[in-house]
Amino acid sequence: MIDKKRIYLCSPHMSDEGYEQLYVKEAFDANWIAPMGENVEQFEKEVAAKVGIKSSVVLSSGTAGIHLALKAAGVQAGDIVFCQSLTFSATANPIIYLNAIPVFIDSDLETWNMSPAALEMAFEKYKPKAVLVVHLYGLSADMDKITEICMKYNVPIIEDACESLGTLYKGHYSGTIGDYGVFSFNGNKILTASSGGMLVSNHEDKIAKVKFWATQARDQARHYQHSELGYNYRLSNIDAGIGRGQLKVLDKRIEQKRHIFEFYKKELGGLAGVTMMPVNEWDKPNYWLTCMTTSGKVRPLDILEALEAENIESRPVWKPMHLQPFFGDYEFVGDGISEQIFENGICLPSDTKMTVEDLERIAEIIKGLWK
Ligand SMILES: *Cc1c(COP(=O)(O)O)cnc(C)c1O
Repeated sequence: MIDKKRIYLCSPHMSDEGYEQLYVKEAFDANWIAPMGENVEQFEKEVAAKVGIKSSVVLSSGTAGIHLALKAAGVQAGDIVFCQSLTFSATANPIIYLNAIPVFIDSDLETWNMSPAALEMAFEKYKPKAVLVVHLYGLSADMDKITEICMKYNVPIIEDACESLGTLYKGHYSGTIGDYGVFSFNGNKILTASSGGMLVSNHEDKIAKVKFWATQARDQARHYQHSELGYNYRLSNIDAGIGRGQLKVLDKRIEQKRHIFEFYKKELGGLAGVTMMPVNEWDKPNYWLTCMTTSGKVRPLDILEALEAENIESRPVWKPMHLQPFFGDYEFVGDGISEQIFENGICLPSDTKMTVEDLERIAEIIKGLWK
């Protein structure tokens, strides 16, 4: 079995045209490898132009972006932050970096993301400094409802758009609807710069401040003077060059990802107990990963193991933060929907380098479990 060609969940996919190497070569030709440089500046401008936002800052990771977004939103030690529970730990960890206190919010089945009803309930009990909403697997949270609630309580929204670059919610790009948006360019995301992230916002003053914090918070002085705590969170000119090249094929990748989703939906959507991840009529996802739930006798682990035996990678849906040993002592508001999605969910191989034959093979293996 081991000799079978490995199929990945989602791996880096450079452009056929070699755009990435072109931008990296430009940096070499100019002998400008670091610090910052042309690729960093242009990458910031190009992503901002693509998603339609005033300002942006390239950072070393999406996690760094969430950290500094929370700081820009004024979160300090002891403050409460409402955070979607069903997510990757990198959403919640920066709350702890700041010694703030997360209150985890449940998801709903309509979006898999933050439940507006649970959010409203949480506001009746707590006064948070910020709300951290996630767009899992490239699906949009219901931002109109969430924005309405947060505006009522005058609390800023941070969108963890690390998985949803290129997703449209009612015609607006993911990450541009709240006060701050964060993208990730980690190796397994839809666009990769080998690593890296970006924080975007229409609050230009805040982005300027984040640039200052992210480059060691050096005051305007001839000598090295610091009035604030700094971080070393910027990305190299080489990595940014890879990101610029990748941005050119983002729309193409979204189209390929959509095709993968539609294929799985056609092949697997009708199996007993199977429900594909929710794509709402107001949502134009980037389909980063195709996920589904199965409530029948075939469990997600059965699918995972059957694929694994054929050298094919899949993975469970994120385990909610309120069920994590590290975060177990924090409050949770909701009624178990995120737990239900976790228990029944699976992320299917969504690599854009897969061939039609690969996809057909995967579908056959999975359908075999229902026979
Ligand atoms: C990948 C990811 C992050 C973190 O991004 P990095 O660039 O890896 O730090 C944060 N939140 C979610 C939901 C992610 O999937």
